[in-house]
Amino acid sequence: MPFQKKINFNKILLLLGFIIVIIGLISVICLQTDVMDFSRGHDFYYLNDSGHSVDFKDGLNFIYEVQLSRVQTVEKWMVPIRIKYEGNPTKEDIAVLNKVIKDFNKIDGFPGIKIVNKDENVLLIYAPQEDLPEIQQKYHLTNLTIDKGVCQRFSEDGEIKRAIIIIESDVDQKTKNSVVLHEIFHMIGFYGHSALNTSVINQIGESVPKLSAVDTLAFQMLYCPEIKIGMTYYEIDV
Ligand SMILES: [Zn+2]
Repeated sequence: MPFQKKINFNKILLLLGFIIVIIGLISVICLQTDVMDFSRGHDFYYLNDSGHSVDFKDGLNFIYEVQLSRVQTVEKWMVPIRIKYEGNPTKEDIAVLNKVIKDFNKIDGFPGIKIVNKDENVLLIYAPQEDLPEIQQKYHLTNLTIDKGVCQRFSEDGEIKRAIIIIESDVDQKTKNSVVLHEIFHMIGFYGHSALNTSVINQIGESVPKLSAVDTLAFQMLYCPEIKIGMTYYEIDV
């Protein structure tokens, strides 16, 4: 009889151990799901995922304000953007550039950006203020006023083919990070400046660290395959 009791006790211990393991596994799965849900809600660093606060009309008005009011019909990149950087970027400059690229490449329909050493279609130059006149001369950009940064695009039949971006390397790092984002946003097709102060390309020259909800929506709309090069405001707004 005592022997029988011992076996039962062992069986109960085994069963308890089994239950504890199952509970542990379930907890781990739930925790991981939570973590995944959390990261899904914070997918972007430079883009904005609060899209519920803006709609199609806000995006279209923005595209009109900063692009169509200047060039009449839709312009955008059709091939992957190959950025070559030169000059004196800091480690953080390169980290920020990579992070912006990673975020922008999440936009559906956008041909994407990558960093290259040669065969670039975008040249990104980090240079101190004193070197700017010489650089402007070299790249025939003497008609541009550089205020911390500048972007010049070259398009053919609505397709943006090439661009050059100059960043003043001697401004403080935090400002420079916003300037890079601002100029890259100009580079992808948003030419002018917006009256919306939250936009990364606001006309008051305020440094904005990430795209506003309208900026992000306009980016998604411009690169949506249904919106084609050559379309007018009225052809989009149907
Ligand atoms: Zn600007």
